[in-house]
Amino acid sequence: MGDRDYYEVLGVSRDASEDEIKRAYRRLAKQYHPDVNKAPDAEEKFKEIQRAYEVLSDPDKRANYDRFGQAGVDGTGFGTGGFADFGFGGFSDIGDIFEQFFGFGTSTRTKTGPRKGDDIRIQMKISFEEAVFGAEKEINIQRDEECTRCAGTGARSRDDIVSCPRCKGRGVISSIQTTILGKVQTQSECPDCRGTGKYIKNKCTECGGLGKVHKNSTIKFKIPEGIDDGQQIRLAGKGNAGINGGPSGDLYIYFSVTPHEYFKREGNDIYFELPITFSQAALGAEVEIPTIHGEVKLTIPAGTQSGTKFKLKNKGVKSLRTNLYGDQYVTVRVVTPKNLTVKQRALFEELAKIENTNDTIIERLRNVFKKKQ
Ligand SMILES: [Zn+2]
Ligand SMILES: [Zn+2]
Repeated sequence: MGDRDYYEVLGVSRDASEDEIKRAYRRLAKQYHPDVNKAPDAEEKFKEIQRAYEVLSDPDKRANYDRFGQAGVDGTGFGTGGFADFGFGGFSDIGDIFEQFFGFGTSTRTKTGPRKGDDIRIQMKISFEEAVFGAEKEINIQRDEECTRCAGTGARSRDDIVSCPRCKGRGVISSIQTTILGKVQTQSECPDCRGTGKYIKNKCTECGGLGKVHKNSTIKFKIPEGIDDGQQIRLAGKGNAGINGGPSGDLYIYFSVTPHEYFKREGNDIYFELPITFSQAALGAEVEIPTIHGEVKLTIPAGTQSGTKFKLKNKGVKSLRTNLYGDQYVTVRVVTPKNLTVKQRALFEELAKIENTNDTIIERLRNVFKKKQ
């Protein structure tokens, strides 16, 4: 489909006015609408008509089509590929089609029956420790809660709830409308009872008949051990109260974790930088390393270079999913001393003298260049 000339599809001349195009479209849409026309190719024809109309009713698209033909309008969302989004399958009933093309609606979907309440989403700042170890928390939120006085019914007493006289308890009202497709029966939500099918003679004094009250609530919850920055938890049923007896929505809490001064977290691993002195690096040392699980002894071997990384197994954060612990990585930084004392200076000078007599780095590099020449 799609290669027939659009003017031919609508049966109009190339200089047809917008009005002529619109009239031709309405006539053909009525004739080929699959709800009306049961011929096997009606739907295909109807789509073709829709597509031709979409292009020819838009002055820009029509100009493109006139100049470049099919190629001028492909890739605009109405070409063969993009058309699926707009195709017939997207309409659920005749009313939608009317709304789409003629700018008036004939039906509203009914909203009777229980509906889930709205979810609530909040952001919460927590410390590094709270994220790593979990914590018990309390928050204050504003939400709709079921009115306790009327148990969500909105009525002063049980006897105040009767069947809606307008819709006779059905929650919907039917009407017949005359449209270009002929008479169409449509159903819409009963405006008197807003689809509930119930009429309340005397409204609840607490909630004014809404069945719910907006109030401030304190909610207790647990931050799970191992939660990370940007992650969230869902507290089922802690959102806004439902409608017509439907369940409450959920409460989502999104965490933003304040970074730690010394521990850097990546997933369930922790990174820690350990400053050591020249002599510790050269001679080796036993050092106490802080981890989130307490101090751990680490042996730094003699001759350790700055930037060397050590792994402390299972000293990281407990995984939310697997319950296994991550690791802690310790990166050694050799710190060059500043502001030497007299004694330190003397010792370094002494050291320098010995180093100079040896094969120093500079000397070795010099030799490399000499060999190249
Ligand atoms: Zn109430
Ligand atoms: Zn009603």
